[in-house]
Amino acid sequence: MKLLKKTHSLCPICLKTIEADVYDDGEKVIIKKECPEHGDFEDIYWSDSDLYKRFLKYQIPGDPIDNPNTTREKGCPYDCGLCNEHKTHTMLGLIDVTNRCNFHCPICFANAEAAGYVCEPTIEQIRVMMKLFREEEPVPADSLMLAGGEPTVREDIIEIVKMAKMLGFKWILVATNGKRIAEDINFTMQLKEAGMNIVYLQFDGLTPEVYEKTRGFNAWPLKQKAIENLKKVDIATTLVPTVVKGLNDDQVGDIIMYGVKNIEIVKSVNFQPVSFTGRISKEGLKKKRYTIPDLIRDVEKQTDGQIKKEDWFPIPAIAPLEKLVEKMFDKRIMKSSTHVHCGAGLYAFEDKGELIPMSHFIDLDAVANIFKEEMKKPQDLHSIKVKLKILARLIKTVDTASAPSYFSWKEMFKAYLTSKEGYKAPKNVVRKAIFIGSMHFMDPYNFDTQRVERCCIHYATPDGRIIPFCAYNSIHRQNVEKKFAKPISNR
Ligand code: SF4
Ligand code: SF4
Repeated sequence: MKLLKKTHSLCPICLKTIEADVYDDGEKVIIKKECPEHGDFEDIYWSDSDLYKRFLKYQIPGDPIDNPNTTREKGCPYDCGLCNEHKTHTMLGLIDVTNRCNFHCPICFANAEAAGYVCEPTIEQIRVMMKLFREEEPVPADSLMLAGGEPTVREDIIEIVKMAKMLGFKWILVATNGKRIAEDINFTMQLKEAGMNIVYLQFDGLTPEVYEKTRGFNAWPLKQKAIENLKKVDIATTLVPTVVKGLNDDQVGDIIMYGVKNIEIVKSVNFQPVSFTGRISKEGLKKKRYTIPDLIRDVEKQTDGQIKKEDWFPIPAIAPLEKLVEKMFDKRIMKSSTHVHCGAGLYAFEDKGELIPMSHFIDLDAVANIFKEEMKKPQDLHSIKVKLKILARLIKTVDTASAPSYFSWKEMFKAYLTSKEGYKAPKNVVRKAIFIGSMHFMDPYNFDTQRVERCCIHYATPDGRIIPFCAYNSIHRQNVEKKFAKPISNR
């Protein structure tokens, strides 16, 4: 066992912050910790130590906001937030608009029925929460997800989407089980007209059995109907499977290929390995823990090698491009300073029913190096001459013989030279592109404060705070909700 780092975690019993060590056992990465009151805990942190090390190379320095709401006093994650030591701005803001739901999932501990109370901010409170994100400095958050419970059970959900649009959010996502979308195409149309541009669709698999276990009934026909309606209304959709070992980890390849079949609307698949909200025995944890490398392995196997382990990159891998864009367009933009072990992703392109990951035809590490080198040179990045010179270097990183048949350098070239605000790929390329990603939300067993202090997905709460996702769900949710809870019968 080799010590990789020292960090802090939580005791899964009393939730106090405790010291933790992260080890390489030669194959996997393990987190170990000891609570003076509740004893030892051990969990798999990352089930592939080589990949853990490869991802580490992409970490960038923090890129915090200039106007934190709180200061560090009790210690992370008890000072959210965002506190003055948080290292990453809000890349995706979340607002739980209700904890009510029109499903009764046996696996859910958070909805109103399970919690025993209703927590539903007023539209005025929601406005204040949205403004918290928009007032972040120097770069206001521009992506917002309305979540729950089930956000579409609110009668005023259309008004809420309109309000988000008016406040300047560019990307408005609604996280949904898809029931109202499947049942009411006019409602789906109204959401789009109000400004929603992405549906974040809960999507556990492609068989009735999976849904019977996760949702308590066969929701598979409903999901297909939702996709049908989303196609008719033409809304970009993200499929969101929660991956549970032994339940649907054998369907991850098929889920991707289902996305590819519906690529005209399915623009991404975002796998979420399950996190454990309640208590779980040591043996149970060992047996059930599923981490990002497990998913990466399963995807390679189940797509017959179309997507390989080497095709995945951590979130900060995009940072060199962000820095170049910032300089080229003279404006501060967000930098992906998220922790490298929080998520992984890749872009792939559909070509005649097959998937071609971007890294199969572009040397992405070489591209990143070119960006880094060009940034350092004393040159005017606005000048066409400089742009052409960079482009000539970039072209050399591409293996056109392996690229999708419709991939045209001429069009890419034109888009690059004529873009005024930020580079946008040509439409025919975007139409065939899909993002495959995974984020492993933490629970008190595998919690790492070094990850959460770099979190980029944040909740706004009705008490005027911004709280990183994994801190909110591991520590703060119950206290916040109870402050604003109403008895179920009052609805
Ligand atoms: S999670 Fe972030 S905001 Fe919360 S206490 Fe830690 S560093 Fe501060
Ligand atoms: S939500 Fe959790 S897993 Fe995702 S970036 Fe934040 S801390 Fe990391």
